[in-house]
Amino acid sequence: MKKIMKKLKKKFKIYDPKLKEECAVFGISNNEDAATLAALGLHALQHRGQEGCGIVSYDGEKYHSEKRFGLVGDNFNDEKVIKKLPGKYAIGHNRYSTTGGTALRNVQPFFADTNSGGIGVAHNGNLTNAITLRNKMVQEGSIFYTTSDTETIVKLIAKSKRAKTIDKVIDAMFQIQGGYALVMMTQNTLIGVRDPFGIRPLVIGKLKNSYVLASETCAFDIIGAKFVREVENGEIIHIENDEIKSIKPFPPKKVRPCVFEYIYFSRPDSILNGKTAYEYRKNFGEQLAKEDKIEADLVVPVPDSGNAAALGYAEKKGLKFDLGLIRNHYVGRTFIEPSQQIRSLGVKLKLNPNISVIKNKKIILVDDSLVRGTTSSKIVKMLYDSGAKEVHVRIASPEIKFPDFYGVDTPTKKELLAANKSTAEICEFIKAKSIKFLSLNGLYLGMGFEQRNENYPQLTDHHFTGEYPVKIIDELGEDKVTQLSLLSTASNN
Ligand code: AMP
Repeated sequence: MKKIMKKLKKKFKIYDPKLKEECAVFGISNNEDAATLAALGLHALQHRGQEGCGIVSYDGEKYHSEKRFGLVGDNFNDEKVIKKLPGKYAIGHNRYSTTGGTALRNVQPFFADTNSGGIGVAHNGNLTNAITLRNKMVQEGSIFYTTSDTETIVKLIAKSKRAKTIDKVIDAMFQIQGGYALVMMTQNTLIGVRDPFGIRPLVIGKLKNSYVLASETCAFDIIGAKFVREVENGEIIHIENDEIKSIKPFPPKKVRPCVFEYIYFSRPDSILNGKTAYEYRKNFGEQLAKEDKIEADLVVPVPDSGNAAALGYAEKKGLKFDLGLIRNHYVGRTFIEPSQQIRSLGVKLKLNPNISVIKNKKIILVDDSLVRGTTSSKIVKMLYDSGAKEVHVRIASPEIKFPDFYGVDTPTKKELLAANKSTAEICEFIKAKSIKFLSLNGLYLGMGFEQRNENYPQLTDHHFTGEYPVKIIDELGEDKVTQLSLLSTASNN
């Protein structure tokens, strides 16, 4: 890896490829309480990123920006800070922590003055050609202040020769590739953009005379907004006062949302394609139970990520469901911790065995996914140490064998357990009595499809299949394809 990094840095001089982000975006138009509502919306979306948060507002004359490290509730919790964000328009962002790149200047929304006025940008996702674009701009004399690919988007918009801001945005959209959802604000206009495949989510809500844009519908519930619809793949939404316009500049494609939003990322109560994430996850558990012959004393979820799948599994099998692990809710997701050492510790900080439930029991332990295997191995040990008779691990998604380049923080191929070990070896590694993953077909059945469309999968499922909708052309080194540049997506219609 060190060799590859060296090679990358040499080739791309200034570039530090620590850009991956899985974040939350929010925007609201035409509302006296714009900043307060943005803070509440971001609070509901906290699960998508806990490293930093920010809000940019516009008061009819000036833009205002407040960006902080840490949680929304700890930072946007009093009148003092909200008063610094006057105006009827606001956008906001929660940033997800990844290794490196931890600096306040990387916290969004970003803001820039362009020749057609100011623009604030909040971005969830990952550009797969950011390095190429950034390098080109640097060679042309641009200066970058952050390591975030969002700055690339802002610069592309600012550099566009088109007169109107919305045309500048369209110009930029034609240059960027990857999985992204953007919420932008230019004076009294709110703009939302979803990538051509709709890999990252973005939804539209309505609150009296205001429109709201957010990563997930749970942000509408907290402020009493009504869910209107999803922003379509490749669609640009343009909101001025209470008027909403749709622009579709790209050639039409079928939507291919990221399967990980359904499996893990979205909050269980958020609605994705007509159903809550909870319902899909329960279905995945049911499918897993259908594919599984094992009997046991009880089904135990890994809280909270495995709760819905474990319930679905237990219901289908008619087995007892019980809480064998108790979660401390005052620690973030294990992944949030940047280093492997802290991540390992993180599992112990978060979960503790409930001895009364697990002693002398044959347990089926259900989680939504297995990435590095850190969580499962710690928990299996915890359960055995607490007197469990047998621990059988069941994972409500298939084996993750390929890294993600569209904004989900999955590690390199080298770190992905299922990319390097057979199922039997994984079982040995996590020291479980047995392990079983949901089949790819079972995943599609759980999603409500009859089967996976092999010619044009209904989801972006590269994590399991290695089929990347936005193709990667650079392959550097033995363990990881990099995000240097991609083929045109035109052939994927
Ligand atoms: P690991 O411990 O590395 O095997 O990771 C699996 C655990 O991390 C599971 O409990 C998942 O719920 C959770 N997880 C899966 N994908 C992600 C992700 N992209 N970000 C944060 N956590 C994740």
